[in-house]
Amino acid sequence: MITVCDLKHAIFSHIEVLLQAYPLSERDTINVPLAQSLQHVLARPIYATLDIPRQDISAMDGFAFIMPSFGASPQTLTIIGESCAGQPFNQAITEGQGVRIFTGAVVPSACNTVIMQEQTNFSDLYNTLDKSKPYDITLQKAVIPGAHIRRQGEEVKQGELVLAVGKRINPGDISLCASLGLATLSVFKPLTVGVLATGDELIDIGLRLQNDAQIYNSNTPTLGALLQDLPVNVVDYGIIPDNLNQTRHTVAKAIQTCDVLISSAGVSVGDYDFLTDVIAELGTIHHYKVAMKPGKPFLFGEFNVTSKDISKPNVLYFGLPGNPLSTLVCCLQFVKPALWRLAGVSAADLPIQLTLEAVTTTPIKKSPGRQEFQRAYFSQNDQGTYSVQPLSSQDSHRVKQLTRANCFIVLPLEQGNIAAGEWVKIEPFSWVLG
Ligand code: AMP
Ligand code: MG
Repeated sequence: MITVCDLKHAIFSHIEVLLQAYPLSERDTINVPLAQSLQHVLARPIYATLDIPRQDISAMDGFAFIMPSFGASPQTLTIIGESCAGQPFNQAITEGQGVRIFTGAVVPSACNTVIMQEQTNFSDLYNTLDKSKPYDITLQKAVIPGAHIRRQGEEVKQGELVLAVGKRINPGDISLCASLGLATLSVFKPLTVGVLATGDELIDIGLRLQNDAQIYNSNTPTLGALLQDLPVNVVDYGIIPDNLNQTRHTVAKAIQTCDVLISSAGVSVGDYDFLTDVIAELGTIHHYKVAMKPGKPFLFGEFNVTSKDISKPNVLYFGLPGNPLSTLVCCLQFVKPALWRLAGVSAADLPIQLTLEAVTTTPIKKSPGRQEFQRAYFSQNDQGTYSVQPLSSQDSHRVKQLTRANCFIVLPLEQGNIAAGEWVKIEPFSWVLG
């Protein structure tokens, strides 16, 4: 059985082949308003059309003046006007004179330094001043040339590449693009991801259960939630009964339009688990079964739907085991990272899985042979150390645990039982991080 790590590598290398065969430069793009571009993947590089700052700008509230090239800084200044944010001072200024200036205001071109208001006697004078006329202030600190001035173009130079293709747009990128005045971004067209659930026992949420053998389909809503932060359009192919023809029909239909197909359940070895046969018939199974718990019967495959009528990139297939916890773990471990890469995110900008070291407060039961993802609750003490408590039962149908847990304890393949007080690796759930 393949290990979790090797399977991740295998999935990524199939995606790299796909990205070579169908380069990102040929992908369809869409324009999205900047405010809605979060988590989309940039399809065109962004070159700055402006300098930032656009001019020399004051970083402080204070006074701008001319610092002579030789000699000490002046002791007093005659203040002859103001430069406010958005309203520059445009008159001539000579040595010995200064202007009151505010943070974000343009530094008059003749001036080469700024002194902070707090380093003058301005606040002592404030109540007695008539600011419509020139007034004198005393400087209480020596000043160095260039102090408190943000230079034109020191952050961004016009023409500079500021964001490259493959950037996963984050709030910082939106801030930068907005500073450059960009109202829309060109991003890759979201991937179409088909989702289907299989099982005669399933019924969709919102409908009435018909008999005692039925259960609600919780996996499709869970997958929808897990995929929500990705640039994908999820197409729900509903619940497919445990029937070979219907399974074949739905999979054949889905792969005509989808870039990726994800199924839940029906990949075990039961008499009514038809997906494995259907995938092998319509496509290729690259990997089946992975040495992990939960989630062993996981399928990874691919469909080539090129025919004389249709030519499209291969469709990736992820067959998730039906138990709700297995579905969730496999989606987090394999599907989401793969979808980010397939969506065009550059390798350097793929989401990072945070891993921490924590002390287990109770013993952990573990048999060697599979990598385990045990649900657990971690917290941090005043000294900054993390401790973690595994939840009592680790069966893959324990859905209530998922709302109580805030991390997985990740136990290596060959690990055996662990005593209380030992260090373990944990992966906090992304949704518990602020
Ligand atoms: P299977 O992989 O079909 O053997 O299913 C494994 C277990 O997961 C069974 O107990 C199923 O009833 C359950 N299961 C399968 N699909 C779903 C689903 N969509 N929502 C909730 N439970 C499911
Ligand atoms: Mg089933």
